[in-house]
Amino acid sequence: MSKEKCNPYENMLAMLDKAAEKLGLEYDDYVGLRYPERELTVSVPVEMDNGKKVIFQGYRIQHSSTRGPCKGGVRYHPSVDLEEVKALAAWMTWKCAVVNIPYGGAKGGVKCEPEKMSENELRRLTRRYTAMILPIIGPEKDIPAPDVNTNAQVMAWMMDTFSMLKGYAVPGVVTGKPVDIGGSLGRAEATGRGVMFTVLNIIDKLKLEANGMSIAVQGFGNVGGVAAMLLAEQGFKIVGISDASCALYKKEGIDVKSAFEFAKNNNRLLKGYEEPEMVEICNNELLCLDVDILIPAALENQITKKNAHDIRAKIIVEAANGPTTNEADEILDKKNILMVPDILANAGGVVVSYFEWVQNEQYFMWDEDYINNKLKNVMDKAFEDVWKIHQENNVSLRMAAYMVALDRVARAKKIRGIFP
Ligand code: NAD
Repeated sequence: MSKEKCNPYENMLAMLDKAAEKLGLEYDDYVGLRYPERELTVSVPVEMDNGKKVIFQGYRIQHSSTRGPCKGGVRYHPSVDLEEVKALAAWMTWKCAVVNIPYGGAKGGVKCEPEKMSENELRRLTRRYTAMILPIIGPEKDIPAPDVNTNAQVMAWMMDTFSMLKGYAVPGVVTGKPVDIGGSLGRAEATGRGVMFTVLNIIDKLKLEANGMSIAVQGFGNVGGVAAMLLAEQGFKIVGISDASCALYKKEGIDVKSAFEFAKNNNRLLKGYEEPEMVEICNNELLCLDVDILIPAALENQITKKNAHDIRAKIIVEAANGPTTNEADEILDKKNILMVPDILANAGGVVVSYFEWVQNEQYFMWDEDYINNKLKNVMDKAFEDVWKIHQENNVSLRMAAYMVALDRVARAKKIRGIFP
């Protein structure tokens, strides 16, 4: 087994400590941020379609509520465990601070294999999980959203369960809901759109042109699929795409819109999608393609010290959360590969989630152009803030993003002080 530390929470702590050192913070100034504020583990009983009972492990972790209500997605995946959810919760704190929205960070998850479950089983799982985390969620406390293998329908079940138990409709308890029950226009595409704005920002700084630049995208779900389509519209050539079922390569560029349509009707998988001149490669080959930009948009720990030496992309834009281990980061840095970190690049989702929550709290609905423009402004401003620290301190963009975030959260913590 590799000796590389892949515990995502330890990776997060290592970055946090380094950022604190760069900012000249004393241990006392940020020690509270090394620990989640609250960890809830629940055993979720579900009656399966065959009548048998299965107990699923579920989590809701609130890392910080210093700058506002906790915010973060819910993930359904076999790899979900406490350490993963803790790291994801902390990354939400940093992400919300980088884009400067008034939220803290949280995350939830249930260890399960959703592709092996029927819709009815998923519905029962979601409703019971929601009921079990109910004491700690709510529009003023902690607002869940979709993440890997959860979607607008899952959010609708969560919203309905919470509302039924409260006795009145509470749309602001989750974001990423269907528009019909208070979801925001533009939310479904927001993370991918934010990734697109980030790519445009980085190539602008490097004085490069979108037209003809090649991109490989790992993960073709809500984030990767949408980002690929929006980037293709901007003139980039998407030469590689992959998901859990296969990886595809075409030198002239894949018709990503058509691939996305195919996956939509194929259990969200690309397996079986065909185009002339397109070949199937393996997942690691996709990560190591000779492309201008690599966008990991699947899961964490995909770029490790095992494959980092073989990465040939010139720029990496992290659309997934935590796709690169710390050791891999150092290797890529030495290879002069420019890395745009997750907490900046994939923040578009939480920004429009924030817009959704604001609309819910005000019983108001904004139009889509207004939302997309507002998203662009927030993403551009965050990029500039991070770029400035990167240039002034001669640090990586990841370190710069952590410095921007930690500075904001630590300052807020200091102003609030410790209760009692
Ligand atoms: P999703 O479930 O819609 O898509 C995940 C994709 O990754 C799927 O195409 C899946 O097949 C693929 N995948 C899984 N394992 C893979 C593997 N080993 N190799 C290649 N592909 C694999 O999830 P999503 O919402 O698109 O989330 C993707 C990433 O983006 C996650 O890290 C998530 O935390 C992060 N993220 C999501 C949002 C959001 O708004 N949905 C916001 C910020 C960050």
